[in-house]
Amino acid sequence: MAASAAEPGPTEAARIIMHVDMDAFFASVELKRQPALRGQPVIVGGRGDPSRRGVVSTATYEARVFGIHSGMPLRTAARLCPDAVFLPVDFPAYHAASAQVFDCLAAVSERLQPVGLDEAYLDISARTDDPLAVGRQLKATIHATTDLVASVGIGPNRLLAKIASDLEKPDGLTWLRRADMRERVWPLPVRTLHGVGPRTAERLAGLGVECVGDLAALPLEQLTAEFSPRHAQSLMASAQGIDERPVQTERIRKSIGRERTFQADCRSSGRLDHEARLMLERVCEQLRERRLGARTVTVKLRYRDFTTHTRSRSLTEPTDGMETLAALVHQCLFAHRLHRAVRLLGVQLSGLVASDSDGRPTGD
Ligand SMILES: [Mg+2]
Repeated sequence: MAASAAEPGPTEAARIIMHVDMDAFFASVELKRQPALRGQPVIVGGRGDPSRRGVVSTATYEARVFGIHSGMPLRTAARLCPDAVFLPVDFPAYHAASAQVFDCLAAVSERLQPVGLDEAYLDISARTDDPLAVGRQLKATIHATTDLVASVGIGPNRLLAKIASDLEKPDGLTWLRRADMRERVWPLPVRTLHGVGPRTAERLAGLGVECVGDLAALPLEQLTAEFSPRHAQSLMASAQGIDERPVQTERIRKSIGRERTFQADCRSSGRLDHEARLMLERVCEQLRERRLGARTVTVKLRYRDFTTHTRSRSLTEPTDGMETLAALVHQCLFAHRLHRAVRLLGVQLSGLVASDSDGRPTGD
């Protein structure tokens, strides 16, 4: 937490964060399959039948003009826009499109934090090229690969990058600096800020706060009278465009690991311990090849009756150090009931984080 809301934190000054958000994602995937629907109000939700229960997942911009938004009951949407085309949700199709989009994102930066199927934060601080050029190129690549349109926001942190990606949607490309706060962010409703939900917004309205600028102008004492000191501090920081949250890259790859099924069930804890170590050595090689550190170790055992159990241990800091990880593997293994016959042993590393250039994993 920054000591003063007026000054950026030391780590923040150098960061460049990009927020990529696909425009009307589900609906756009549907339009790709049914180009004849382009230009029409299209609503994706539930079983695609407004006479049955269900809510709007995504609507095209042509439908949003009628006041239709995500989470609205399909019945209401049909009333607001009787001519809309309703389509059922098809998750396998959206997952496939999402995988293509994330391949494009991963090529820009490995420091990538997915948010659902159609959004992600990228930390592009390490890139030396112009952030706007990076954004423009990424949008072009996504469009060429998937025929879908993304909005890109760039900022000094996640808070402003996310606000930026929304400012010129659809097909937006916006760079928001903290110096732009007064002009571009302060006029926005306070709900725009991360962490301001309906209840917080209601309490803020009680203090006369409607837009972000109202919040920025509010004396801290008034906020602390209504909210906990911590909540008040974080609201005040948000109103000033300050956000220290790192891009959480550990979900780039979920895990790496190995499994081994024994020819004959294994009943020796000494042998399991030895095998687990050999497997870890191989996995650690992969870890270093990919310049990653791991925070969590999981050991899986499948017994003769096919019941499967896992035990995990986590570190506070990621590492690629063999001995540190081996100690965790040993702990996990002996947390299992080892007197039973084991048919399969698995060792897995997760909580993976990109290492920096000298091979040492970094915290975020
Ligand atoms: Mg989106």
